[in-house]
Amino acid sequence: MTARILIVDDIPANLKLLDAKLTGEYFEVFAASSGPEALEAVKECQPDIILLDVMMPGMDGFEVCRRLKSSSETEHIPVIMVTALDQPKDRVQGLEAGADDFLTKPVNDLALFARVRSLVRLKMVTDELRLRDATGQRIGAFTAREGAEMLLKEPGRFLVIDDRPSSLRRITDTLSSEHTVMVSETPDELIELAGNGNFDMYIVSLTLEQHDGLRLCSQLRSLEATRQTPILAIVEEGDTARLVRALDMGVNDYLVRPVERNELLARCRSQLRRKRYQDFLRDRFQQGMEQAVTDPLTGLHNRRYMEGHLESLVGDAAHTGKQVSLLIFDIDHFKAVNDTYGHPAGDAVLREFAQRIAHNVRGVDLCCRLGGEEFVVVMPDTDADFAKVVAERLRVCIASRPFALDDDATVLDVTVSIGLSTTIGGGDSPSDLLSRADDCLYEAKRSGRNKVVAQAA
Ligand code: GH3
Ligand code: MG
Ligand code: MG
Repeated sequence: MTARILIVDDIPANLKLLDAKLTGEYFEVFAASSGPEALEAVKECQPDIILLDVMMPGMDGFEVCRRLKSSSETEHIPVIMVTALDQPKDRVQGLEAGADDFLTKPVNDLALFARVRSLVRLKMVTDELRLRDATGQRIGAFTAREGAEMLLKEPGRFLVIDDRPSSLRRITDTLSSEHTVMVSETPDELIELAGNGNFDMYIVSLTLEQHDGLRLCSQLRSLEATRQTPILAIVEEGDTARLVRALDMGVNDYLVRPVERNELLARCRSQLRRKRYQDFLRDRFQQGMEQAVTDPLTGLHNRRYMEGHLESLVGDAAHTGKQVSLLIFDIDHFKAVNDTYGHPAGDAVLREFAQRIAHNVRGVDLCCRLGGEEFVVVMPDTDADFAKVVAERLRVCIASRPFALDDDATVLDVTVSIGLSTTIGGGDSPSDLLSRADDCLYEAKRSGRNKVVAQAA
């Protein structure tokens, strides 16, 4: 895994040292020697990670970090503060400025590489989601990005395992001031709770007496239900080897004992912020996907979805020998509805039409709006005789009861013409099926409308 790393330090010797270490690990390295220079460089080199010195003349690292985190262009880039200070209050100040992690000078190589890799992995996930989101916005599937911050108003839900009573008490006391905290006694219990608990983060001691904390982390990372949820590890001072294993495994953050209250709160907040942001992007992508295959007027699936669905059904049918039937509907003289009652009335008719069709087919049948006043119903495992019965029932359910317009005072009679086709053995393609149904529809129109025409047996 490679990445672009921007290193920022006012002392040339420090820059040189970091550059050598990172280049040696095949990272692509860029350097800046002051705050303003760093802000410029970020725009130019688009780094994946920033290693930021805290103490610099002029604009210090905290300020640079605050500026990066307050711009929507750069807020997603992970920042690691590199500091000679090892006081919890400085860490807290940095975390409050939005820093994602800390390294203390002199920088420990293993911790540095592990930390960088872990943050690069995280950034790749966020980048992918941001890209999809940008595409979604461009094609108009998503509205502008807002509401992400709102999600942070909800308290977090954390699940903790730590067998040292005093440490556990400190963690739960500290976090319950802002969040909901649950505790598990054993890894098995934690896995079980995690599976159905919808937690925002797991806090795992890596020094459990009776159990292997690393193994627990690896399980959490591999299970479908828990793999996306951040893990905060609690480690012993100086236990670098275990920490590096944990970070390589995908543990997101860590605290060294004795756990400092403000640092715990700050790290939980920053993981929570990141998780909620990723969840937000993921949910929105899902929504966008749904919107992209849904017809906004009727709520039915659209043509794009129908084509994909039909493709898989017809493919399956060729193997299983089960037949697929397809109905194409075209409302009769629909133009007259618009001309007489106006376009909104036409829309109301289309919505009502869609509902009647959708309520009168099976759950496995797919209803969609092809466009305009044309609809399709795809029926898996349905032969021509049965399909004809369904088509006739649908025709009657439109023609037998007048449509009420939105004002409820006006009612009008609507009829529909329907073309029906059914797969015939192996070589049938979705477009064959559609075009045969279309021919039948044409015949239904030609021979008087308000009728079903099926393909000749
Ligand atoms: P035929 O019986 O031969 O099908 O006649 P028709 O009038 O239904 O057919 P035509 O294709 O001439 O007209 C379809 C009309 O559907 C024209 C168009 O304005 C209208 N239309 C298409 N999409 C919409 C829509 O989303 N809303 C409304 N209100 N009307 C639509
Ligand atoms: Mg038409
Ligand atoms: Mg029509």
